[in-house]
Amino acid sequence: MTLFLCKKHGRQGFIEVCEHINSELSSNIFCENKPLTFWSNVYACDACWQNFEIDKFENHPELKGKEYSNIDDGFDENGLAFKGYYEVYNQLNRNTWCAKCVAEIQSKSN
Ligand SMILES: [Zn+2]
Ligand SMILES: [Zn+2]
Repeated sequence: MTLFLCKKHGRQGFIEVCEHINSELSSNIFCENKPLTFWSNVYACDACWQNFEIDKFENHPELKGKEYSNIDDGFDENGLAFKGYYEVYNQLNRNTWCAKCVAEIQSKSN
């Protein structure tokens, strides 16, 4: 697992979030948001989930857990799904957050 260097917590795991969750986190809020199907540490808000029709990827559970680095256009029967997913991933305008910082924000905002 790639580690993230947090000013407060040192080396930590991290999550990636869409730009909307990023602005929430910047205001010390973390709402209920769904992790993306294939990468459990990538979170998208409801608006992004609908906007990018992320639900359609739920129909490909066999793709779950594939490494990000293994995803390219070379996949045969699932290639299209991967490509579409990768495009969504790229359009989320992601920001990286320390997992521990997010957990703290989440426990405070509950
Ligand atoms: Zn969003
Ligand atoms: Zn931290």
